[in-house]
Amino acid sequence: SDAAQPFPADAPASAALLERARAVVPGGVNSPVRAYGSVGGTPRFIARGEGPYVVDADGRRYVDLVCSWGPMILGHGHPQVREAVAGAAAEGFSFGMPTEREVLLAEEIVSRVEPVERVRLVSSGTEATMSAIRLARGYTGRSVVVKFAGCYHGHVDALLASAGSGVATFGLPDSPGVPASAAAETIVLPYNDLAAVERAFAERGSEIAAVITEAAPGNMGVVPPAPGFTEGLRRITAEHGALLVSDEVMTGFRASAAGWLGLEGVPASGAPDLFTFGKVMGGGFPAAAFGGRADVMAMLAPEGPVYQAGTLSGNPVAAAAGLATLRACTPEVYARLDVVADALTAAVTESFGRHGIAHRVQRVGSMFSVFFREGEVRDYDDARQQDAERFGRFFHAMLRRGVHLPPSCYEVWFVSAAHDDAAVEATVRAIEESAAEIA
Ligand code: PLP
Repeated sequence: SDAAQPFPADAPASAALLERARAVVPGGVNSPVRAYGSVGGTPRFIARGEGPYVVDADGRRYVDLVCSWGPMILGHGHPQVREAVAGAAAEGFSFGMPTEREVLLAEEIVSRVEPVERVRLVSSGTEATMSAIRLARGYTGRSVVVKFAGCYHGHVDALLASAGSGVATFGLPDSPGVPASAAAETIVLPYNDLAAVERAFAERGSEIAAVITEAAPGNMGVVPPAPGFTEGLRRITAEHGALLVSDEVMTGFRASAAGWLGLEGVPASGAPDLFTFGKVMGGGFPAAAFGGRADVMAMLAPEGPVYQAGTLSGNPVAAAAGLATLRACTPEVYARLDVVADALTAAVTESFGRHGIAHRVQRVGSMFSVFFREGEVRDYDDARQQDAERFGRFFHAMLRRGVHLPPSCYEVWFVSAAHDDAAVEATVRAIEESAAEIA
């Protein structure tokens, strides 16, 4: 199929599957953003992936810029990963007893991210941040957590709160089912605002167990930390005996071989105490991790009293997929991601510019997103001031031209090293035609 050939707007096979799914699954999807809620239309049910493409239930092939929301850094069906998965599966699916592969994956992570001395494997990014918060509370004997508006750390009760952007705002639960007591332990601050962090610590410093931040946020669109922000967080938390948790679930092993830390370097004021990882390190399977300073990690059971566990933690097939993926992430892979990101961001800038479409491209390594507004985006308030309706039209214009963007204007356009020149050229063409269509 020719990727430039427009597809019809409807997708009958996906629509039929959605109807069946809705009868047995809430909303027909197993994670809300898959439902196309903010762009409308029928979510494409995917039959298979091939390198930079996904093929839907109607047999239509799309250039995939979702990449499973980050994990598929090598594209779909990478031969080395397939071989590793098949090999591991042939030896058994799960034992609930330790295996060598877990050691290898932990060694791989520790060797890449210098401040990480010990690591514990879990099965999702949510579990990683949830466990890191429990550990920080156990280590400090305090209960309050500071997070930033617009940062997503998974669906952890205490971390779903993002209401309010004032200083020391008490978080209100963003979701029914999150008890007010959990939200009350969370202080939500505006991102990139060190003065707000200073004020929160001046008021409640002795109660704060940790500040958690996306190492470089990608969940309000890409909003890099302003120069000195990470360093300031490290300084302020250290002054008050609180831990700094750097959430690298999205940036880890993607922004660079050592994630965001590899790009920014260890801040002059010191490294974060704890890190969380997921996505790329599972190679498309459920594997994630949290890790950091040996003395903090020593608080975890069975070494210490903070309980944390998992029947499938360190699952051998997932560990094999993650290990094979990390080992295949060579300098050439990161160079290719940059080339792809260069080409796509240049195309957006050029086509949107030519057609007079307000836009702002922000980027961290090969992670980038397109805001449908002008001017720098420094925090969640900025990110929310964009033309989401126009993004929806752009999304569908791209979809009809065989390019599947993330179905939300707050998401990273994820690329892979499998995005070859043909996939890039098809995407660049679709960007130009779609820009003309929505102008
Ligand atoms: N932290 C960050 C920065 C994320 O981007 C995500 C997922 O998008 C999570 C945590 C949660 O990870 P998971 O969806 O694997 O639970």
